[in-house]
Amino acid sequence: MSARDDLVRRFGSAAGELRVGGEPLSRLAARAGSTPFFAYDRAELTRRVRELREALPDAVHLSYAVKANPYPAVVQHLARIVDRFDVASAREMLTALDTPTAPERVSFAGPGKTTAELRQAIAAGVTIELESEGEGRRAVDAAAEVGRRPRFAIRVNPPFEVKGSGMRMGGGAQQFGVDAELAPDLISRVAGWDAEFMGFHIFAGSQNLNAELISTAQRRSAELIVELAEHVDGPIRYVNLGGGFGIPYFETDSPLDLAAVGAGLGDVIDGVIAPSLPDAQVVIELGRYIVGEAGVYVTRVVDRKVSRGKTFLVVDGGLHHQLAASGNFGQVIRRNYPIALGNRVAEASDDTVHVVGCSCTPLDVLGSDVALPAAEPGDLVVVFQAGAYGLTASPTGFLSHPEAIELLV
Ligand SMILES: *Cc1c(COP(=O)(O)O)cnc(C)c1O
Repeated sequence: MSARDDLVRRFGSAAGELRVGGEPLSRLAARAGSTPFFAYDRAELTRRVRELREALPDAVHLSYAVKANPYPAVVQHLARIVDRFDVASAREMLTALDTPTAPERVSFAGPGKTTAELRQAIAAGVTIELESEGEGRRAVDAAAEVGRRPRFAIRVNPPFEVKGSGMRMGGGAQQFGVDAELAPDLISRVAGWDAEFMGFHIFAGSQNLNAELISTAQRRSAELIVELAEHVDGPIRYVNLGGGFGIPYFETDSPLDLAAVGAGLGDVIDGVIAPSLPDAQVVIELGRYIVGEAGVYVTRVVDRKVSRGKTFLVVDGGLHHQLAASGNFGQVIRRNYPIALGNRVAEASDDTVHVVGCSCTPLDVLGSDVALPAAEPGDLVVVFQAGAYGLTASPTGFLSHPEAIELLV
């Protein structure tokens, strides 16, 4: 079965129309008021988190990385089913704290936290994941102004890379984290500050579909953290092993073997973390894996035209809402995300078309040589795998087209 057919089956359809959250697309379009729009499936989010809970060891605290999809309704929904939030800006922090989640369950990572953001984080009581010594010093000064003891963890840039990651964020020279060899020095500095030290965070990469490579990275991260913990006086309460679990976007991708990741992590917790760091809360933080497959991007065909033998479907959306599907968000080679004609999913795909966005740039391609039923203006073109790094990872101001609506269904 093609990835597209599998996704259509998973979301469900009736009378030839794709459904999201049980609602036919045309009705969702009416509810949104206009196309394009993003629709996120609440039940699918819940199912995804349940699947993670079943596969990962019970001891794991599941954190949602808000930057993958900061739509407030999504964050609110997830607040009830995950344990924590990982935020990467003050604005994301405020979104997370608007949910019932306690500040102790929010951690703030990311290079370039401004002094104003550090002040906000300290005032709120969230954990600041230090990315450099300079950031730590600014945070201590900010804490004195705020009059509250800051809560710190150290984000470590490991001496190894994680193979298989679509985006690498650890190993070698990085703007992320404190180099592992410099961490002991920062640990002793933090001990001299009036701060609460929680533990360590290693996030080495994103979009990895290889369970074995993820398990190796988790093991090496855990071993490194245990080693660094020897430099700390007092208990380590927080061990964040990152995540980076990927989802399949292209026909050649196979889904991640979550059961294998869970088994590997169980071994790492029992064999490496628990014996040395009995007080540690083990955190896995995921963005894409939780929300990516739960969202669709829905556009309407504006024009159908033929140019020198090729058929183009021009839709009313494009890269300004869904940059990643156009292949311009970190991909080396442009490949198609799964695409369907959402109002006619039961029909045979006997036409081959290029689906292009409405922006005046040849980069605005949502699908090349896509097999679809013969589409006409008014039909709804759906791009799957749009729940993560969609709207907020796209240049929405480009060409000044209208914004996309978001719905949680
Ligand atoms: C982006 C990011 C994540 C989320 O990554 P996904 O691949 O979406 O799961 C988690 N942690 C940190 C520190 C990040 O920067």
